[in-house]
Amino acid sequence: MGKKPVLVVSSCLVGEKVRYNGKDATDRFAVKLSECVSVIKVCPEVGAGLGIPRKKVFLVKKNGYALFQEKTGRDITYKINSFSESFLSSLKGIDGFLLKSKSPSCGVYHGAKTYRNTDRTGYVGRKKGLFAQAVKRKFPFHPVEDEERLKDLYIRFVFLTRVYLFFYYREYGADYVLEKYPHVLKLFSNRGFNRFKKSKK
Ligand code: SF4
Repeated sequence: MGKKPVLVVSSCLVGEKVRYNGKDATDRFAVKLSECVSVIKVCPEVGAGLGIPRKKVFLVKKNGYALFQEKTGRDITYKINSFSESFLSSLKGIDGFLLKSKSPSCGVYHGAKTYRNTDRTGYVGRKKGLFAQAVKRKFPFHPVEDEERLKDLYIRFVFLTRVYLFFYYREYGADYVLEKYPHVLKLFSNRGFNRFKKSKK
């Protein structure tokens, strides 16, 4: 079998019953894509030891971001952040992330409802989940998308193109990419291209 791009994917999008209510959030495109690439599945909440089923969690923005659990009132920020740090540090040779939208852990562009107070008052809008924030800090240049945005065919096209560029660069090196895609790389400024090279994992 030939080499394939490697994507980190929220487990619930590809059929794993890991959500707070013991259900999955299967997305047809995520499943189809997972048949064409190598997938590293992750559920940050299960990874942080919250169990299935579990009480829902929600985001609070006050001197930074925190995650609290409904009803129990537990602050699980430390658990999620520790898991995110150790999981993301363990990754080698990956080409992108496909994360679940609207989740207080995984949500990226369609973030999660966020409040100013731990009693869920003081709505401040939708913000990135804690795991998604850690992804953006650790892999600032990698393609990161959610399943909702990938319903837009243009966004899907751009995401896949970036994933495959990362893959070719990681697997075959800069010379290969420069030879095959000079017209694409011309769009990078020198500074941008140097940062892209440095970001190679
Ligand atoms: S959205 Fe993320 S944290 Fe929530 S169930 Fe899916 S993988 Fe787990």
